[in-house]
This record gives sequence, structure tokens and C-alpha cells, in this order.
Amino acid sequence: SAPETIEFDRAREEVDELRVRLAEYAEAYYERDTQLVTDAVYDAAMSRLRALEDAHPQLRSQDSPTETVGGGVSSLFDPVVHAERMLSLDNVFSVDELREWMLRTREATGGSPHWLTELKIDGLAISLRYEHGILVSAATRGDGRTGEDVTENIGTITDIPQRFIGEVDEFPALVEVRGEIFIPVEAFSRLNELQLDLRDRTVEEARERWAARPAASRGPFDEAEARKRAERRFPAFANPRNAASGGLRQQLDKKEGLEREAGAARLSALRLYVHGIGAWPDPPVATQSEVYTLLAAWGLPTSPHVRVFEDADGVAGYVERHGAERAEIEHQIDGIVVKVDELAMHDELGANSRAPRWAIAYKYPPEEVQTKLLDIRVGV
Ligand code: NAD
Repeated sequence: SAPETIEFDRAREEVDELRVRLAEYAEAYYERDTQLVTDAVYDAAMSRLRALEDAHPQLRSQDSPTETVGGGVSSLFDPVVHAERMLSLDNVFSVDELREWMLRTREATGGSPHWLTELKIDGLAISLRYEHGILVSAATRGDGRTGEDVTENIGTITDIPQRFIGEVDEFPALVEVRGEIFIPVEAFSRLNELQLDLRDRTVEEARERWAARPAASRGPFDEAEARKRAERRFPAFANPRNAASGGLRQQLDKKEGLEREAGAARLSALRLYVHGIGAWPDPPVATQSEVYTLLAAWGLPTSPHVRVFEDADGVAGYVERHGAERAEIEHQIDGIVVKVDELAMHDELGANSRAPRWAIAYKYPPEEVQTKLLDIRVGV
């Protein structure tokens, strides 16, 4: 057959293979709170798939991971339909690409947007539905349309107000507050220390049970075996993101004893920073930064790391400088998010199938993220 056909057939095979592989990675990541590969490997597979789909548009598909919001809805939780879809973010991997994006976006608005920069918190997204200032439900992102109901678990997260502070008649009838649930780096180290402690206690309990048996019917105490079992029960958490996701998505009421203690500690380590809104008919403000000010006044936790810039040079300078300051930030980050500040421009720019056109994630080079992860592990 013709060379183009061979090339197309090869591309199709690779596309199929990549989609299967990415689905496996996503299932582990979103549903089991673990990861089979590093984020860099995942991102590279996604880029390759996107390149193949661009080169062969016939291979595009609405349910390709390049077109969908990653994450399923586990049957362990009730489904919650988001009033407005929860989206992902498109990525750029260099400051040049970021500048191109800002130029394109500015042209598309026909105006001169202000740029809001935020840290990209490596946690998991949550949607909090408030009606007349009262929290009615909390849900994970899921597939973007339907998330998992985690209302019960967030009751103990002190960052999440059950009701707004202020005058009830000022509260909207409905607002979906969007944010990131995360575990601060320091709390993460403490959680891993607790896991070690729980292992020791498990071994001690096994020894006591052994000692309570009649001397005649017991062999020598197998400490190595007891320790291995303890490690399986209380493994070290690989990173704060997976620990946060597993913490939020656990079923604490089914746990007992030491497992319950570990689960409760994990839940109480969870923090929230607000980073957006979903449904909110007619917000009384014109910019995203003012949204944050308003939400903060109502008692929601907003990030102290948000900045507003007048122009692209300011943003590029901030992104370049920021690498150096990263060590001092209280949570793990995997990049910087740049958003158009004006809400009217959000409506104008809209969204593609999986991400808004008014925001972009600048992702740090993988080796830097890796170093950061290693630092954290060594700190354990
Ligand atoms: P994403 O994490 O790249 O970006 C979207 C998310 O960023 C939002 O849903 C939100 O939760 C979060 N976010 C954090 N700070 C934010 C801020 N200030 N403003 C707005 N949003 C903010 O996209 P994704 O679709 O959630 O996941 C894809 C990424 O997840 C991959 O690039 C990879 O890094 C990782 N992943 C890894 C594996 C793996 O196996 N290692 C598998 C799946 C996904």
C-alpha cells in the first residue's frame, strides 16, 4: 500500500496505544490516588497524542483524553452534577509559549486584559455549593460534569466555612466556589512521621498478642514479618497530592482503630485555597481578583500568592523570578496559572472542550518538580 497509508496506520496504532496507556494512568491517579508514572511521563504521552491527532485530524475523537477532563466518578460516592462544568487547564512549558498565549488572548479580547497570576497548587479540585451563604454540598471534579459527593468528609476541614460571614441578604442565592484541596509540605512530613509511628505501634501490638499466647504453643516472634505487615498497613505517602486526594476521598466511618486514627489525621491536614467560581448568576464584581476579595470577606480562604499585572512583561518577569522563591511556599506547586482578570472577557473567550480560553498553566520543567519531590521525601 501507499506510504501515506502505512504512515496513517502506524499513527492510528500509536494513538490507540497511547489512549489505553493514558486511561490506565488516569484511573490510578484519579480513582486510586496513586501514580504509575511521573507527571512528566504522563504529560509527554499526552503531548505525543495531541501531536498525532493534529497531524491526522481523522484520528480525533470526542472521548480522547486530549478532549476530556480527566477523572471518573467512583461508585463509593454519590454523584453530584455541577451547575457549571469544572474544567481543566491548558498548559505551556516555556516562557516564550506563555508570551505567545498572552499575545493571542489579548488579541482575541480586542482589549487590554489585566493578568492575574496564581500558584498552581498540586492538590485536587473541589466545588463547594453555597445557597444563600450556606454550604449545601462539596464535590470533586470527576469528569467535569459530574463529581463525587464528599460533603460528609469536609465537615472537619476548618478552612471550609459551613456558612458565610456577613449580611445574609448580600449572599447570592447560588454560588459554586472552586478551589484546591491540598496538604501543606510541613503537614505532609508530619503525616509520614505518623505513618512510621503507627507501624511501630502495630509491631508492638503484634508482639503483645504473641506474648499473650501460651509459651508452649508459640514459636519465636517473627519481627521482620510483623514489620512487613505494618508497612503494608501504613505505607509512606509518595507525595502531598496523592495523600490529599486519598484523604478527601476516604470512607472514614468504615475505618477502625489505628486506621481510623491515620485517616482522621489525614483529613485534618487538608487545607483549601479558593481559585475560582463556577455557577454564580450576576456576580456583583467585574474581576476575578475582586471575586477573591469578596469570597475572603465571606470567610473563604484565598491564596496570599495572587498578583495582578498590567502587561505581559510583568507576568514573564514574575514567572522567571518565581523559580527562586518556590522553596518558601507552604504547599507543593507544579507551575503558575495565568488568568485574564476581567470576568466579562471570560464570557467572551469561552472554553474549548476541556479548558477555559482565558487561563493557562505554565508548568515547571519536570526536573525541577522532581527535585522538589525528592527534597520532600528526604525531609520525611
Ligand atoms: P492540571 O492539574 O494540569 O490543571 C487543572 C487543575 O489545576 C484544576 O482542575 C485545578 O484543580 C488545579 N489548579 C491548581 N491551582 C490552580 C489555580 N491557581 N487556578 C486554577 N486551577 C488550579 O490538569 P488535570 O486535568 O487536573 O490533570 C492533568 C495533570 O495531572 C497532568 O498534567 C499531570 O501533571 C497530572 N496527572 C498525572 C498522572 C500520572 O500518572 N502521573 C495521571 C493523571 C494526571
